[in-house]
Amino acid sequence: MPTDEDSRYERIPIPEEPARDRVASFIEIRHPYQPDEAVIEAQRCLQCAMPYCVQACPIAQDARGYILAVAQRDFDRAATIVLRENPLGTTLCKVCYHFCEDACIMHERGGAIAIRQLKRAAMELGTSDTEYVPSAPVGQRIAVVGAGPAGLMAAWELGTRGYSVTVFEAEPFLGGQVGAIPKYHMDGYELELDVARFRRLDVTFQMGRRLGRDFTIDSLRTDGYRAIYLAVGTPGHNLLGVPGENLPGVYPALDLLIETNKGPPIALGKRVVVIGGGDVAMDAVRSARRLAEGGDVTVVYRRGRAEMSAGAEEIEEAEAEGVTFLFDRGPYQVVGNGKVEGMVVREVKLSPPGPSGRPVVVAVPGTEQTLPCDSVVIAVGEKADLSGFPAALDLAFGKQGWPQGKHDDTMTGIDGVFASGGKSVVHAMAAGTRSADGIDAYLRKQGGNPPTPRPDPFGQGMVPALPKGYGFATWTP
Ligand SMILES: Cc1cc2nc3c(=O)[nH]c(=O)nc-3n(C[C@H](O)[C@H](O)[C@H](O)COP(=O)(O)OP(=O)(O)OC[C@H]3O[C@@H](n4cnc5c(N)ncnc54)[C@H](O)[C@@H]3O)c2cc1C
Repeated sequence: MPTDEDSRYERIPIPEEPARDRVASFIEIRHPYQPDEAVIEAQRCLQCAMPYCVQACPIAQDARGYILAVAQRDFDRAATIVLRENPLGTTLCKVCYHFCEDACIMHERGGAIAIRQLKRAAMELGTSDTEYVPSAPVGQRIAVVGAGPAGLMAAWELGTRGYSVTVFEAEPFLGGQVGAIPKYHMDGYELELDVARFRRLDVTFQMGRRLGRDFTIDSLRTDGYRAIYLAVGTPGHNLLGVPGENLPGVYPALDLLIETNKGPPIALGKRVVVIGGGDVAMDAVRSARRLAEGGDVTVVYRRGRAEMSAGAEEIEEAEAEGVTFLFDRGPYQVVGNGKVEGMVVREVKLSPPGPSGRPVVVAVPGTEQTLPCDSVVIAVGEKADLSGFPAALDLAFGKQGWPQGKHDDTMTGIDGVFASGGKSVVHAMAAGTRSADGIDAYLRKQGGNPPTPRPDPFGQGMVPALPKGYGFATWTP
C-alpha cells in the first residue's frame, strides 16, 4: 500500500494519446505538462551535488540547472539555460533518447525525473524565441558540409565565436536524418524554430549542393574557406542481400520515413513486413501501421526481443499499437510477380562462438515461411555515401557508419579538413562541438593564439554553472 511519503516520489505521468486512437493518424503521441505538473515534477529532483544526468549527456547539458529553474516556476530562466549549451533544444525536448534519465538517481524512487519533458516545459512555457549573438567577427570563412545535427552544432559553435560559416547541404531540407523522425514524435516545425535563433550569426545555408557532385574540397579552398567540416552522416542504406529485393514495393526505411514526412506518403498497402530490430525499424513499422490504416504490420528480427537494439520505450509503444513481432527469423527471399507479394523468412539460431569469439547467426534450412504482404521495408542500417570524395581524406567510420577523421580533434588525412557524426541527435551535436573546437584550435594556432573559449551565446557574459569537474562535450566518440 503506497504511503503519502511514497507518492511524493512518484513521477508525474506524461500525458499521451491512447494507443488505439493514435494509430489512426500521425498526431503527436506525447503532450506537454501543464505548468503546475512541470513544477511538481521538477521539485522531485534531488539537485545532486555531482549530477549523473549532466555526466550522461553527450553535450553536458545542465539539466540540473534548468530543472531547478522549472521547480522555481522560472520558465524563462529554464529556457535560457537549455539554449545556452544546446542550440537544438526545441528538437531535443521531443526526440532526445534522454540518456540523462537513464542515469537519474530517482530511478529507484518513483521513476527517473522526466527530464526531457521538463526541457519541453522550459522551451514551451519559457521564452525560447530568442536569438544568438556572435562575438566580434574573426574574418575567416569555414565550410560545413551537411546540415544534420552535427553540421548545425558546428555552425553554431563557430558562428557564436565570430567565424563566417557556410553550410552546404545536398538535400533541399535541413536536419539530415532528423527529417526522417516520424511526426508522431514531433510535428516537424521544431528544427525551424531552433535554426531561427541563428539569424544574427554569420551562418548561411546553400541547399541542394552536394560535395563530390557540385563542388570539391579544392574548390572550397579556392573559394577562400580556411577550414572544412564534413558532417555528412549516413544517407545511404544497407541491403538485405536476398533475391527479389529490387521488386517494386521494397523500400529502404530512410526513404519511406522521409517521404512520409515530406509527402506525398508512399502507398504501402494493407500488409507490410519490416526487416530489422533497431530504432529505425520501430519508426518504420509504427509509421507503416498508420499508413496501412489498421492493416497488418510485422517486424521480422533475427534475434529475440531482449537483443533488439531499439529503445525499450519504442518497442513497448510499437507493441501497444498492435505491431506483430516475429523473432529469430531472417530474410530469405522477396517473392512476387512484377511487385511484392510475399516475404519468405526462415528460422535462424546462434551458432557457438566463432574465431572472433562472437556467436554467429545461422539460418536453419527447411524452415522457410512465406509472409504474404504488399510491401517490404528494409531497416538494417544506414551507411555513408562518399562518392566523389578524395581518398586522401583517409576516413575512419563510426559504429553506425558515419565518416570521421582519424585524429583526436577529428582532422582527416587532409590538413584543415575535419569529419565526424553521431549515433543520435545529441551524440552528433557533441561530435559537431568536437570538430568545431578542433577547427578553432587549428586556425587560432596558425596565428599563434590559444583556442577561443566558448562564449556566452547570448552575449551577456553568463557563466555556465556546471559543477567542478564537468565540462562541455565530455563525451568522446
Ligand atoms: C528514422 C530515424 C529516426 C531517428 N530518430 C531519432 C530520435 O528519435 N532521437 C535521436 O536522438 N536520434 C534519432 N535518429 C538518429 C539521428 O537522427 C542521427 O544520429 C543524427 O541525425 C546524425 O547526425 P549527423 O549530423 O551526424 O548526420 P545526418 O543527420 O545524417 O546529416 C548528414 C547531412 O549531410 C548531408 N550530406 C550527405 N552527404 C553530403 C554531401 N556529399 N554533400 C552535402 N551534404 C551531404 C545529408 O543530406 C544530411 O543532411 C534517427 C535516425 C533515423 C534514420
